[in-house]
Amino acid sequence: MTVRLARLAAAALLAGWLLAAGACARHRAGERAAVLPRAHNVVFILVDTLRADHLSLYGYGRDTSPNLTALGRESLVFQAARSQASCTFPSVNSMLTSRSPSAFLGQPGGAMGLPAGIPGLAELLHARGFHTAAVSASPIVRTSPGRFNPGGGYGRGFDSFQEDCVWKGADCVTGQALPHLGRDPRPLFLYLHYLDPHGPYAPPAGYRPRFARGRPDKDFVRRGDPNPIARWLYQGGADPGVTAADLAYLVDLYDDKIAFFDAQLGRLLAALRAGGLLDDTLLVLAADHGEEFLEHGDVKHCRNLFDTTIRTPLLLRVPGARPRAVAEPVENLDIVPTLLDLLGPAAVGGPAAVGGPAPAAVAGFEGRSLRPAAEGRPLPPRLQRAAQGALRSVADGRLKLVRDVAGGRFALYDLAHDPGEKRDVASERRSDIHRLRDALDAWLARSEGRLAGDGVRRAEEAARRLRALGYLD
Ligand SMILES: [Zn+2]
Repeated sequence: MTVRLARLAAAALLAGWLLAAGACARHRAGERAAVLPRAHNVVFILVDTLRADHLSLYGYGRDTSPNLTALGRESLVFQAARSQASCTFPSVNSMLTSRSPSAFLGQPGGAMGLPAGIPGLAELLHARGFHTAAVSASPIVRTSPGRFNPGGGYGRGFDSFQEDCVWKGADCVTGQALPHLGRDPRPLFLYLHYLDPHGPYAPPAGYRPRFARGRPDKDFVRRGDPNPIARWLYQGGADPGVTAADLAYLVDLYDDKIAFFDAQLGRLLAALRAGGLLDDTLLVLAADHGEEFLEHGDVKHCRNLFDTTIRTPLLLRVPGARPRAVAEPVENLDIVPTLLDLLGPAAVGGPAAVGGPAPAAVAGFEGRSLRPAAEGRPLPPRLQRAAQGALRSVADGRLKLVRDVAGGRFALYDLAHDPGEKRDVASERRSDIHRLRDALDAWLARSEGRLAGDGVRRAEEAARRLRALGYLD
C-alpha cells in the first residue's frame, strides 16, 4: 500500500511536472512570441582594436566606458566572445560574412575586400530591401583603393560608404552617422567602423586625458606611438629602451582612447533613443581584435592568438529580449546568422515574422544563430576558432589550444585558471590536447582542406604585404 501510494504520489508528481512543464513550455512559447523583436533596422558598431578586458563592463578596474556599461544593461552581453583573427583583415571579413579567415586569403592581386562569391551582411540586407550605409574610419575597411588597402573592396551592397573619417576619431564617425538616422523610409543597415582605440593611442587635441598622467621622457611614449617598439621587435630597429613606466603610460593612453570612443558611443545612442529608433533596431557592438602590450612579447596586433588580441566584447541589443550576461563561448562568426535569424524571413517591408525558419538557406555560414540567448535559453556548446598567419586555435570556454601549423608546435592554456595564458599546460593535459587537436584538424579540413599549408603561405604573404605598405601591425 505504501509502495502503491508512493507510486501514485510519484505519478501525480510526474503528471504535475508534465503539466507544469507544458505550462512552462506554453509560457515560454508565449514569451517567445512576445520577446521576439519586431526590429526593422540594424546598427552594427565595430570598434577596431578593443580588448574586452579593458572595459568596465568586462570587469576592468578602471571605468573606461560608462556608456558601454549602460548599453550592457539593456543588452545580451557575451562574456566569452572571441574574434576569428587578430588582424583587421581578415577578421572583419569573417565577421561580415560568417566565413573562416582562410576564405579571404590568396585573392588575386592580394585583394583584401569581400570576394564576389561571398556575400557580406550589407549585400544580404540590401537584397531584403534595406537602405545600407557605412561610415568607416579604417584604412583597411574601405570601398575605394587606399594606401593600406590598394584594392578597397568592402563597399559591395552599400548604398553609401563614407570614407571621410579614415584615420580620424570617433567624433567624426558619430558625426557622419547621425544624418543617416531616420532619413530613409526603408529599414536601415548602418555599419559604423570606429578606429579608436587603434594606435597611435593619443586622444585627439582638446580631449582631456582621464588616465594618462605626467610627461614621459620619450617622445614616442608621449605620443602614444607603439611603432618604435614594433620596429625593434620585428624589423631589426634600434632598441627604444622601453621601461615598465613607458608601457604603463601607453596603456593609460589606450584606456583614454577607449573613454573617448565611449563618449561618442553615448552620443550615438542618445540620438538613436531621441529619434525613437532604438527599440526598432537590432544593435550590435563588436571588435575585430584586441591589442597586445608585451604581455606575451608582442605589441599591437596581427601577431598571436592570445586573448589580449582575440578576446573581444560582443553586445547585442534585441528589443523585447531580457538583458543578461551570456557565459557560453561565442564567435564573431555568429553575428550575421544571428541578425538574419532575428530579423526573420519577412524583414522586407513589414514586421519580422515570428518563428520563421532560421536562415540556414543562406548556405556557407560557419557561425550559428545566437537567437536562443535572446530567448533566455542556453546555447549548445561550441568551439571558438581563430587563425593568424601560421597559427590556428580552438577554445572550448575552459581551454585554448594554439597550434603553429607551419612548425607543428602547439600549446595549451587553461583559460579558467590562467586567463593571462602565461603557462602552457600541454604536458599535463594529454587527453584535452588530443580532443582539441582533433577538433582543430576537423575545422582545418573543412575550411582549408588540402590547402592548409598553402593557406599558411598565403596568410604570411598577406601579412608581409601589409607591412610593406607601412601598416606595421
Ligand atoms: Zn583592426
